[in-house]
Amino acid sequence: MSEAFSAFVSHLECSETGEQYPANQAYNVSNAGYPLLVRYNLNALRDALEPGTLSSGLPGFWRYSKLLPLGPLEQIVSLGEVCTPLIPLPIDAITSSEGPPCKVWIKDEGLLPTGSFKARGVSLAVNMAKQLGIQKMAIPTNGNAGAALAAYGAQAGLEILCYCPRDTPPINVEEMRRYGAEVHLHDGLIHECGAEVQARCDAEGWFNTSTLREPYRIEGKKTMGLELAEQFDWQLPDYIFYPTGGGTGLIGMWKAFKELKAMGWLSGDLPKMICVQAEGCAPLVRAFERGDRRADVWENAETVAAGIRVPKALGDFLVLDAVRESGGYALSVSDDAIRAAQHDIATKTGFLMCPEGAATAAALKRSLTEGLMEPGASTVLFNCATGLKYLDLAS
Ligand SMILES: *Cc1c(COP(=O)(O)O)cnc(C)c1O
Repeated sequence: MSEAFSAFVSHLECSETGEQYPANQAYNVSNAGYPLLVRYNLNALRDALEPGTLSSGLPGFWRYSKLLPLGPLEQIVSLGEVCTPLIPLPIDAITSSEGPPCKVWIKDEGLLPTGSFKARGVSLAVNMAKQLGIQKMAIPTNGNAGAALAAYGAQAGLEILCYCPRDTPPINVEEMRRYGAEVHLHDGLIHECGAEVQARCDAEGWFNTSTLREPYRIEGKKTMGLELAEQFDWQLPDYIFYPTGGGTGLIGMWKAFKELKAMGWLSGDLPKMICVQAEGCAPLVRAFERGDRRADVWENAETVAAGIRVPKALGDFLVLDAVRESGGYALSVSDDAIRAAQHDIATKTGFLMCPEGAATAAALKRSLTEGLMEPGASTVLFNCATGLKYLDLAS
């Protein structure tokens, strides 16, 4: 085992075939072309830790480093990763209809470095890359992932290359440039930017850091699940509404819950995972409704919520498996409903959601109106970025 890795990592595994890979070198996808997942020796972890005491004593989400792949923790590339708060949301800020009462919290990821939860995954990816000797990282991005990679990459002394759709929110493009990344605006959506990135990787040796083509971003996103478990005192809420693009966060949280469950740390049921997409780009919702495990490319994708405008996701089957296994569902909301939810919550509570976060609120409203949830359910909505990044798109 290379010491780049935690002693609790046992191997990497193909998420589809189960083929195993030793955890001592850099990887993208498995030989079969699927995402690789990090596996841990959970029995050893359970024996090594007191139940409920996951904290390593390090600040922010690094407190969960025992369940993360990184070995040496002395010189972490860090921008002040925090654990994010749960903010209670009065239900009448979302809906005036007489629905079943339920308890709702917003998990505010906008407080993370670079203003979005992309910092979670990217900080892991950059720290692992540094340990593995990678020097140049490339990414296709709808904005926040590129901004986070450019920032962490700058601190780590890496070269960073970003390809974005031409209509990526301008503030994100500007962020990438300020951190010194090479940025290209491309006439195409994110999966088409992904093809450009792959071509540059093949020709020039960049490391492809695309969603799920790199095994550690998902481990970083897993900290959302670990954090929720700790914040809810090891008994998780009934529902998690997640605005789903590539799906890393939903897959990562589900992985966290299963790992904690295997360690015997959780009481009660696991949450129902609700995959929220925009009506103008809902490949996973369509596949869910058809009963499929793979999603076709969504043609002419368009939505105000740039972070979830992902017409084709490599990990489609992992999202759909998690949603189904959890007893959850997938549903889409219109851009008008997104704008209305953002407006209602901002004016009634003083909390400004990003468009993707507002999509989860709109989806909760729809779920209550359509009776999809049982009375009294506890629910977490993910606000994935600070609403301040999107003032030009609002209302
Ligand atoms: C990336 C992003 C998402 C989607 O996250 P995934 O885990 O990739 O599905 C949602 N909202 C915002 C603001 C994002 O930047």
